[in-house]
Amino acid sequence: MEKQKKVLIIGAGIAGITCAYKLVTECDNLKPIIIEQNPYIGGLATTIDYDGNSADIGPHRFFTKNEQVIEFWKSIMPLQGANAIDDILLKRKIDFDDGYSDPEVDDNVLLKRKRFSRIYYLKKFFDYPVKLNIKTILNLGLIRTMCCGFSYLKSCIIKREEKSLEDFMINRFGKVLYNTFFEYYTEKVWGRKPRDIDKSWGQQRIKGLSLIKTLLNKFSKNNKEISLTDEYFYPKFGAKQMCSEMLKTILEKGGEIHLDTKVVKINKSENKINSLTVKNSQGVISDIYGDYVVSSMPVKDLLCGMNDVAQNVIDIAQNLPYRDYQLITYLVKKFNLKNNTDWRTINDICPDSWIYVQDREVKIGRIYIPKNFSPYLCRNIEDTLICLEYFCDKDDELWNMTDNEIFKFGIEEMLKINAIQSKEDVLKSYRFKVEKAYPAYFDSYENFDVIKSYINSIENLYCIGRNGQHKYNNMDHSTLSGIMASDIIKNSSDKTILWSVNADDTYQEVK
Ligand SMILES: Cc1cc2nc3c(=O)[nH]c(=O)nc-3n(C[C@H](O)[C@H](O)[C@H](O)COP(=O)(O)OP(=O)(O)OC[C@H]3O[C@@H](n4cnc5c(N)ncnc54)[C@H](O)[C@@H]3O)c2cc1C
Repeated sequence: MEKQKKVLIIGAGIAGITCAYKLVTECDNLKPIIIEQNPYIGGLATTIDYDGNSADIGPHRFFTKNEQVIEFWKSIMPLQGANAIDDILLKRKIDFDDGYSDPEVDDNVLLKRKRFSRIYYLKKFFDYPVKLNIKTILNLGLIRTMCCGFSYLKSCIIKREEKSLEDFMINRFGKVLYNTFFEYYTEKVWGRKPRDIDKSWGQQRIKGLSLIKTLLNKFSKNNKEISLTDEYFYPKFGAKQMCSEMLKTILEKGGEIHLDTKVVKINKSENKINSLTVKNSQGVISDIYGDYVVSSMPVKDLLCGMNDVAQNVIDIAQNLPYRDYQLITYLVKKFNLKNNTDWRTINDICPDSWIYVQDREVKIGRIYIPKNFSPYLCRNIEDTLICLEYFCDKDDELWNMTDNEIFKFGIEEMLKINAIQSKEDVLKSYRFKVEKAYPAYFDSYENFDVIKSYINSIENLYCIGRNGQHKYNNMDHSTLSGIMASDIIKNSSDKTILWSVNADDTYQEVK
């Protein structure tokens, strides 16, 4: 029998776990060994337990335009075919198509959820993406709306030279709409003014979106783009469950996982990686040898931990930018953002999965409501967790507040925007910090091609996933890159194709 080769997989996020799952289920001669620095799996898409109630690190809807990925997810978690508990209690009607699993009986179920996410601004809800309709005009007021209209017309006639994201957006939406809905929010997310962000960011993320197109979409009855984003899938017990289900099979079939184990050195000889030096939670250091290395760890840490890397490559890697993130979660007695839609909800809270908070007087980026993703995330169906998402940098004020300071800060912000009526509405508070949650596209990113070529030159190294490729990948892209890496290793085919994941997708939901 052919000797089993070892595939060392750095990271137990959805990319690494998918790759291990595909290898273990399709290739007898390849043994995946996953090395994960955290004591838990799921990476950025993990689910956290807060005294019996659960929430993901941030809102995670499963949505993709890629058939292969959706079929893969459904093969791991069967699709919902009967009502979930909230649908039953509220007598809501859901169309289940080809689903057959009953979430009231089965645990391994991919729920089908209706999507609501809106913008909250001036203490009012706006459609997302912003639509020019009566509701928007009433919310903004006639004068503001007319200013938006005139400045939009001006932007159609007088085009700015497009050097930055600011120019890109003003050319497409006009200055007033840009100031109202884009400028401050972009700054909150990235910590940079849009005028300091390269226009390529807009080209990648809001390619093809224009006000005229948005208006036309509104009148088009048969618009697949819009209807696709009206629903999403979601594991019964949270995003992490997708990884947990795969891990069961990985372990059953002989794969390995080492949790609480950090890769600290990548040992290269000529053009091949021979071993990884790892450190466990007790501080014990050892080497793990393998034939292939699949990495979903941040490119910056990968290259800075590798021996004999050319100085120009290190300089670029060291200056790759990231955005950190923290989730401040409250168990609340009462949530004041009430339901003003036809879609019924438990406790009559707004039905949104998450809400973009636009007001300049607060630093909250979004409000995320886990129970709107799955009622099975609640200990009791009446329990409501409200999570405030703060985008930050590791050395900034928000990041360095003590727990008590940030809890108080979040409550004050919720009061400012009327999300709660009084601080007594908060029963419990929790905090979760995430480093490198967002790979960013500025600073040395413009030279990322040098890094790609260098990685391509290392024969047995395969970079996958979000930080592994330093790309704004969603779970579907990370899943796809894991599938592709396993295929490439299995067939000894060209690995440079990995970089094509998420190279030309457009996403409707991004402003
Ligand atoms: C707030 C937020 C909301 C999001 N919402 C959505 C959404 O709605 N839909 C969607 O599709 N996507 C969403 N995403 C994106 C999604 O989370 C990611 O695309 C996906 O989870 C990335 O998976 P990954 O496996 O590529 O990377 P990761 O999840 O980052 O996994 C990499 C793993 O490598 C480990 N690691 C790193 N360094 C080392 C080391 N030195 N040694 C060992 N292990 C190491 C990490 O601990 C981590 O577990 C969101 C992301 C965020 C932050």
